[in-house]
Amino acid sequence: MLLLHQSKVRFAKVVWCSLSLPNHRFVLWQSVLGHLLTRDNLLRRQIPIDSPLCSVCEIDLESYEHLFFDCLHSQQILHKMANWLGIAIWSSKFCEWIAWMDGRPKGLYQRILVATLAAAAVYFIWLNRNSCIFNYSSISSNRILFLIKASLKARLLGIARKKLGILEKTFLDSMN
Ligand SMILES: [Zn+2]
Repeated sequence: MLLLHQSKVRFAKVVWCSLSLPNHRFVLWQSVLGHLLTRDNLLRRQIPIDSPLCSVCEIDLESYEHLFFDCLHSQQILHKMANWLGIAIWSSKFCEWIAWMDGRPKGLYQRILVATLAAAAVYFIWLNRNSCIFNYSSISSNRILFLIKASLKARLLGIARKKLGILEKTFLDSMN
């Protein structure tokens, strides 16, 4: 958590990117602060839970590291995102991920790939985790990839095309 706080100020610019959807930004920021109530967090707060296992795979303990990096379902989502983008937008560990995101190239490239897509991925992984707990159903990795693409497309369509860069236009056209 110390690393999270040290990175908080620098990371804020990435999290609060105006291109990201507000609810995606909020969940990403909660994750950076360590405030998402994963099951290991609930246990630390001595809140009784029925199981400490990941509600998605039910194999390992649910923690940030597991949910966003090690869980097979999340890995499938991130693998499909990397195939779509032609580039991985994720590090392999939570502590490295923050430094990795912070060191991305500046400008539009960073805004689109890192801020918007990372925020969407964190949001939908968290949404699916909650769906597994409260609805007893998991959202498929293909469906989550579709939702991530749709959220980016909706944001890009809200910007006048003449204001979009070449990369953004390429993304938008590839999603039509
Ligand atoms: Zn899992």
